Amino acid sequence: MAKPAKPTKQAGRARHVPQRTCVACRQTEAKVGLVRLVRTPDGVFADPTGKQPGRGAYLHAQRSCWEHGIRHSLASALRTSLSEADAQRLAAFFEALPQE
Ligand SMILES: [Zn+2]
Repeated sequence: MAKPAKPTKQAGRARHVPQRTCVACRQTEAKVGLVRLVRTPDGVFADPTGKQPGRGAYLHAQRSCWEHGIRHSLASALRTSLSEADAQRLAAFFEALPQE
């Protein structure tokens, strides 16, 4: 089986990878490494599908960023304040994340 020769030299340069900023550590990341959080009238929820309407913010899918974000920067990033229920719900979500 001969492989067809493809002109690959300049291919892929224009591919757009969406970048998002983790609100805890401020590092920019391809969207795939981050989990979206969304502010709703009922509080702040994790939005792993990224499809919920509302103001969103992103955190790395790792505990250190969630812990820092919940305590510090997430509320201002979402222009809200986190209730105790929100903080507990989000803590329960990140505790279910796989350890790196
Ligand atoms: Zn982060």
